[in-house]
Formats: sequence, structure tokens, C-alpha cells
Amino acid sequence: MKIFNLSDVLPQILGLLLRGQFKFEFEMLPYRARNIRLRKAVNFFLAGLNQYLLPARPLGYPVIAQVEPANYCNLNCPLCLTTSITKSRSRALLPLETFKQFIDECGDYLLLLILWDWGEPFLNPDLIKMIAYAKTRGIVVHTSTNGNVPLDEAQVEALVDSGLDSLVVAVDGVSQEIYEKYRQGGRLDRVILNIQNILRVRSAKGLTTPRINMRFVVMRHNEAEVPEAHDLARRMGVDFFTLKTVDMHPDEGCELDKTYAPGKTRYRRYDYNKDTFTRKERPFVCMRPWKRITVEASGEVIGCEYDYKNEHSFGNIGPMGTLNAWKSKASEDFRRVFNLGHNDFDMCRSCTYKNSIADDCTVERFDLKPTKP
Ligand code: SF4
Repeated sequence: MKIFNLSDVLPQILGLLLRGQFKFEFEMLPYRARNIRLRKAVNFFLAGLNQYLLPARPLGYPVIAQVEPANYCNLNCPLCLTTSITKSRSRALLPLETFKQFIDECGDYLLLLILWDWGEPFLNPDLIKMIAYAKTRGIVVHTSTNGNVPLDEAQVEALVDSGLDSLVVAVDGVSQEIYEKYRQGGRLDRVILNIQNILRVRSAKGLTTPRINMRFVVMRHNEAEVPEAHDLARRMGVDFFTLKTVDMHPDEGCELDKTYAPGKTRYRRYDYNKDTFTRKERPFVCMRPWKRITVEASGEVIGCEYDYKNEHSFGNIGPMGTLNAWKSKASEDFRRVFNLGHNDFDMCRSCTYKNSIADDCTVERFDLKPTKP
């Protein structure tokens, strides 16, 4: 989602100012933010200007936030940084009080809250309370899960009642054998049961949220199961079935690309040079440090989730406060270097968005229910 894409915003200005509504897409899913008060609307325009001006000290406050409820996981997916590089961090769960402080400070400005980073969000026992708290401030809340944390009836009820707008559930295969090749340690039957329970309770309450997005990350070993997975999604009654390109850090010899890149080019994140799996270079402009505030489970504010070593931390929201961290001297120094085009930080050199063919890592969306956001 761009903060300020003129072609999206111009036709919606009246609706935003008069009815307090704004429609947008994130990861190819449609959303509608409601009850946007004047302060949030004004901030939205100010923050949008950052994309054009790229100031070291941003105008306004963040419109989109990515917050990490837990920084560890219950599975061992081979390409996920949670099981490798970011594992060097101390295990942490974001405390509910820290989250509330964050929402108290940013709630007047945020349109969208993305509740995940490196780790499984449902490992945080306070996740559902966090969602409900954010919803009291009229924020669109979206989270994601591998679906392997068992949810009892009371938890499912609380989740549906929380007001969560959408939930991604990763299902990268329809047989346990194919599924666990990537979701190592995962059980497909448990994931399916969780989805079915959420849909059952949602339907019993006559609600349409959380909208369920069954997401299939397409890789070499599972691409043959895409049609069956699509069929499974339809039979279960989820709202969306989406296909996502696989996230692979570049490595010496392109070993990951050789192993995991799917055969069908439409499912690939990169174009490859002929007869090799070396990625074709493409122009890439990153605006992440202006677009989105990222808060780790430790309370550290960073300019991008790939700064998992906190080498360019903006500050910690506990002692500093979130909005002060967003505009801290450290954040200004970071954006200044970034803006000069010198963003050859380690994290950026191995950025998986670089050289990507499409704007979005999600490449196909199938709408399976006629619900509107
Ligand atoms: S790692 Fe990638 S997304 Fe993050 S700031 Fe660097 S270039 Fe941007």
C-alpha cells in the first residue's frame, strides 16, 4: 500500500473528508477504513507527502504500522529468517501494556495495523486483546498465522469478537507430505480445524469478519497442488485464496533460487538470466523508512523489519515514546543516508524486494465470497 497514490486518493477525497472513509488495498486484499476523524485525515495527507519529499524528519506521524507480537515461532520453515538469522535475538513477547502505550500514542494517526513480523503472532497469549484494543481506535487490523497454535472454543469466540478485519492463514499444500516439506513441524489437519472453527463461529454470530485469506506460497515442490488448494479453499468457505511468491534471501551460487523457485514464471518473484538462476537486476526505489513504522517485540522502533539486529534503531518506545522514536535523531540520520541513495546497508544489499518483478509479493487473488470490506 502506498500512503499517497494520487490516482487512488483523488477520487476519494470527498468520501474521506465528508464520510470519513477510505478504500485501499494491502497484499492485494481490499479494505475500507471507516470513522476517520479530521486529525487522522490531515495526518494522512501530511504523511503522504513524505513519499514525494523524503525528508529526514518526516511530516506527520505513521499511517501504517507493523508490530511484532512474538519474535519466535513454533515451526521451522527453511527460508524464514525467524528460524535462522533472527534467531540470534533474545526470545520476546510484546507486553500488552507496551502495545497499549503504542496504540495510545499512534491511534489517532493509524489507518492500518499489520500484526506480525518475525515470529508466530498467536504465540503471544495477549494477541486477541491487542487486536480488540486497536479496534477501539478505528484502525484496520490485519494479522497472519501458520495456523498451528491450537485455539479452543473460547479463543475462537474472542478472536471473532475482537473485530479483526482479516487473517492470513498459510496453507502451502493439501497433503501433509507436501505441506510439511516447507512448514516443518506443522500439522495440516490442525490448520484446517482452526480455519473451520473460525468460520463456524463467525457464521453463527452472523458476522463477516475476520475475512480469511488462505495463502499459498508457491514453491517448486508444491506448485502442482495449487489447483487442489484452490478447491480446498472454496470448499471450506474462506473469503480469499491468494498465491504469494516465495521469499528467498539471495545467496552465493543462487542455491535457494535453484531449489525453491517454481517452474511457472507467473509464480516467480524474479526474472532469471538465461540458463542460470541469477536474478535479473531491476530498478528499485525503497520508501520503507517513510511508509511504515515497525515495532519489534522488544519495543524497539526500526525503519524496516530487515533491521532485525537493530543496527539502525530509532529508539525504544518504553523509555522514549513511539512518536519521539519515529522522529528521533537516530531516525533522521538513518533516513538522511538512505535518501542520499547510499542505502547499501547490509540488510538492503540482501533485500528480497530488490529485483522483484511485481509491486506486490502476492501475485494472484481469488475472491471466493461476495463480501465487501
Ligand atoms: S531492506 Fe529492503 S525494504 Fe528494508 S529498507 Fe532496505 S531496501 Fe528497503
